[in-house]
Amino acid sequence: MPPQTERFNLSVTTTSGDLHAQVEVPTGFIAITDIVPVVRSLGEQAQDLEVARTIQAGKSISCQKGCAACCRIMIPVSPPEAFALVDVVKSLPEVHQARIQRKLTDTRTQLHNAGLLPTLQGLAESTQPQSDEDLEPVNQAYYALRLPCIFLEEETCSIYEHRPAACRGHLVSSPPEMCQDMETNPVEGLHVPVRAGTVLSILWAELTGEPLRLLPLPMALEWAEKHQDLKQKAWKGMDLLSRTLDGLQKFLQQTFTSFSKKPPIPDHGPSLTEKFEAWPKRPTEKHS
Ligand code: SF4
Repeated sequence: MPPQTERFNLSVTTTSGDLHAQVEVPTGFIAITDIVPVVRSLGEQAQDLEVARTIQAGKSISCQKGCAACCRIMIPVSPPEAFALVDVVKSLPEVHQARIQRKLTDTRTQLHNAGLLPTLQGLAESTQPQSDEDLEPVNQAYYALRLPCIFLEEETCSIYEHRPAACRGHLVSSPPEMCQDMETNPVEGLHVPVRAGTVLSILWAELTGEPLRLLPLPMALEWAEKHQDLKQKAWKGMDLLSRTLDGLQKFLQQTFTSFSKKPPIPDHGPSLTEKFEAWPKRPTEKHS
């Protein structure tokens, strides 16, 4: 018998407009990974508002299947998503798992050769939240390597339905060829009104008392395997949803505070970090 669920109507104001959504959670106990699709869906529905604004402004979305330029930047993964990714990988056919493992080994070798591996490992296990300023040089050094994501096959995401929230917000309205070099070209990335990965990280930090953490994707599987004990706990569905919405509220408050200082859609080329808003600000921290 399928688990009993409760359904709620949710209305929140985001920087891209009012979001009205239905959310559904099981009435019983659930794992942290069960809330991941709920938050990702909220992020995607909020992104739809921004897409509509962009089209209304006379622009179009350039991103299409087969273009994977953004699958070479450092993707941040929240801890709940890292646990979910491990489950996804384990559910894949063995040959696919083996390909991912080979790519992971190759990626780690290249990161090691570039002197970046200890930095990324340090980020994954850091006990301190990292500021955008700290991360900018790491983002740039990573992007300079143009390492294809371990899940990328023939320029297509091989886990598309399960890709991290950060990947879902990667949309641009500038010509796609500009994405071949996002450092020097004025790529126009769409604003991300709800960074679902950040909301999940805020939730995780609240639940565990750990610092706000986002994991570089090549470190995410290892981190999740190493911290499986943290995954075992179950929460009442309603409690977890309520705490998730608290995290969403914190995120939105922080975003509105930022936007009181600068407009939602930058009219000039944003920095590499801002382009995809890859890493979070601490909830109490203000955008510079
Ligand atoms: S998970 Fe998929 S969408 Fe995200 S960077 Fe990797 S290949 Fe690209």
